[in-house]
Amino acid sequence: MASKYKPSYRRQKTVLTASTKAVIVMLAVLVVTLAVFLIKSVMSQALKPDIVYPPESSDTDETPARTDTEASTDEAETAMPVRTVEDSRFDTKEGALVLVNRDNAYTLPSDAELLTLYDERHENFTLDNISVKLCAPAYDALCRMTDAYADRSGYCPLMLISGYRDGAEQTKYYEEYVINESDKAYVELPGFSDHHTGLAFDVRLYDKDGASYSYGRYATEKAKWLVENYKYYGFVIRYPANKESYTGISGESNHFRYVGLPHSVYMTDKGVCLEEYLQILRRHPYDDPLKIEVEHDEYLVWYCQGDVIVPRDGDYEVSGDNVGGFVVSVRK
Ligand SMILES: [Zn+2]
Repeated sequence: MASKYKPSYRRQKTVLTASTKAVIVMLAVLVVTLAVFLIKSVMSQALKPDIVYPPESSDTDETPARTDTEASTDEAETAMPVRTVEDSRFDTKEGALVLVNRDNAYTLPSDAELLTLYDERHENFTLDNISVKLCAPAYDALCRMTDAYADRSGYCPLMLISGYRDGAEQTKYYEEYVINESDKAYVELPGFSDHHTGLAFDVRLYDKDGASYSYGRYATEKAKWLVENYKYYGFVIRYPANKESYTGISGESNHFRYVGLPHSVYMTDKGVCLEEYLQILRRHPYDDPLKIEVEHDEYLVWYCQGDVIVPRDGDYEVSGDNVGGFVVSVRK
């Protein structure tokens, strides 16, 4: 019997041992969990000040520091290292910003590169006649613009009807077109024509099917991309409708003029004609340049009379204004 009891006791003892083990394991798990929790919370408490305070203090430390950096950048902008070049190195009659109007006569310098477009590549624009001529900077920009137009739309409807004219050609043109006194508002006097610059041309629109349209009237409908993008290729409409008091010419919406970047973007976006733009620039010497943004590029533009002040390092462009001054442009 005793032998029967024994195993039963042993069994009971074994059962008890098992449950004790289970309790111990549970307790151990609990203790470990608690310990992990405590360590985590102690760690987080201990880490908290390190995370919170330094950024707070670094915020206050950094804010003035950041302002200092900006200030020094601004200073660097206005205090761009410059050097002076004698104005005899440049010609006020050369450059994309020459001003020609009823008060300012112009003759193209004899060494200017004048191209007869009939002899040049012009696959993406058409010519009304074989005598259209342009100076190289205007022709190059015209090719870039019409190529981009054709790439985008398959066909560019721009037709050039007139480009460079010398004094004699302008006299002929004037005599042909000025019949009544009122016509004088639309035609420049010989010697005082924007066409003498070789940077200007008049256009029409010429459809694939051969139909021809007035640019001023149909541009938005038939050449929308051009209307929105000519400014990015250095062109402006030289005689906007509401600028007669400055230009002396009633609106001539089909007369393009190459003035170059970034000037074309500023003039078009701000709605100022060349006369107004040069007035604005005269208020901006090299140490207070006009800042112009063109997409992601920033340009600094300033005006010089007398000696020409240019950046000491890097590229820049200088254009005469045909009235005794120079415009310097720098892309940052
Ligand atoms: Zn014209």
